[in-house]
Amino acid sequence: PVRVRFCPSPTGNPHVGLVRTALFNWAFARHHQGTLVFRIEDTDAARDSEESYQQLLESMRWLGFDWDEGPEVGGPHAPYRQSQRREIYADVAQKLLDAGYAYHCYCSQEELETRREAARAAGRPSGYDGHCRDLTAEQIERYTAEGRAPIVRFRMPDETITFTDLVRGELTFTPENVPDYGIVRANGAPLYTLVNPVDDALMEITHVLRGEDLLSSTPRQIALYKALMELGIAQRVPEFGHLPYVMGEGNKKLSKRDPQSSLNLYRERGFLPEGLLNYLSLLGWSLSADQDIFTLDEMVAAFDVKDVNPNPARFDLKKAEAINADHIRLLDVKDFAERCRPWLKAPFAPWAPEDFDEAKWQAIAPHAQTRVKVLSEITDNVDFLFLPEPVTDEASWNKAMKEGSDALLRTAREKLQAADWTSPEALKEAVLAAGEAHGLKLGKAQAPVRVAVTGRTVGLPLFESLQVLGKEKSLARIDAALT
Ligand code: GLU
Repeated sequence: PVRVRFCPSPTGNPHVGLVRTALFNWAFARHHQGTLVFRIEDTDAARDSEESYQQLLESMRWLGFDWDEGPEVGGPHAPYRQSQRREIYADVAQKLLDAGYAYHCYCSQEELETRREAARAAGRPSGYDGHCRDLTAEQIERYTAEGRAPIVRFRMPDETITFTDLVRGELTFTPENVPDYGIVRANGAPLYTLVNPVDDALMEITHVLRGEDLLSSTPRQIALYKALMELGIAQRVPEFGHLPYVMGEGNKKLSKRDPQSSLNLYRERGFLPEGLLNYLSLLGWSLSADQDIFTLDEMVAAFDVKDVNPNPARFDLKKAEAINADHIRLLDVKDFAERCRPWLKAPFAPWAPEDFDEAKWQAIAPHAQTRVKVLSEITDNVDFLFLPEPVTDEASWNKAMKEGSDALLRTAREKLQAADWTSPEALKEAVLAAGEAHGLKLGKAQAPVRVAVTGRTVGLPLFESLQVLGKEKSLARIDAALT
């Protein structure tokens, strides 16, 4: 059975690269009717906070992910927060030490640095040089007497490590490129290098799908797994698949610090979770050459990690918005109207809560649904309905109100006054007729009407907008524009 894991460190608000990793693991688990383990890698007490842990869970729920083992759902390998698994790691570290797979290393940072510099200068590999690999009892005694506190270092076997990456094919690492590495700090705190593979082993993970940035830790982890297997702690070495880098602006790796990479940004802009996930799935994968828009169910049915493209993927906000727009169109209109709620209120909406009108919102929602790319665009598109006066955007006024606009507006007002307001088509006829009277096509004729009524030069379909706002208010706004 397939068992995969998603195991972020809960540092601040999740970034989109992390979300893509979660998505691919989730889709892989669901495709194989396997198990998705959600584990929290919160061993770095300095950076991890309860608040970011809560944020992370909330983000996962918002995205619509479910997991089979992990926080809130429990499971046979609980607890799933590494901060609560300290004794397990201490126990494994001790077993590795006892069996000689790891050793105490007394080198100070300064000593390490000096020797690294020297190695570099001599053109030798600059990783750990094995200084403490085989200390004698006397040497250990001397270091201890000097008051040195040792770290625990894993002893890499002196052999080439080869594995077949599910995305990149066969990869080979020679020993000089994979030196012995620390697994427990001098203060006893276990490091990622230990806790991650130990938990993957104990949680019986079969496939590790993660970002390419972690590729260099894979040969170390494979060696550690082999030791854990010898010790009866691990059953197997999992398979690995490293997902391609995500590139941002200027073809630079999208970093956690990039504002563009923050999940919250997309939530605030009003991305639908399904739209965002659809887009993120395209960062390294595709359903087919001619289908960009699909549901998560379709993705799950088709997903195979072997189809992931190893080349860096470019993050393209425009494309993300276009895909999100398509998902907005696919919503049931009631669902759309509900999902817009946050942008119909403070802090996004500029109107007073009591000026909001539910019936008007329900009437305009179908027209808004065909227009917006992200839900946050809704606010500006409907503010003319709920503000006592239309926004006054001078640039728009100057653009639409040309010489002759007054005359046109007067005629339009007359025709609109006489029109049948139960039909947007009749309102269009009225403005069309007013335009004709002044030698203007519909586009030119409706611009001053739109600005007078909505304050803007672009917006939702005009005649539906007029109808929803109502005859009285619409005509009053044209009057106001004429004075
Ligand atoms: N906690 C690690 C991270 O967020 C997980 C890495 C892995 O998947 O092995 O980078």
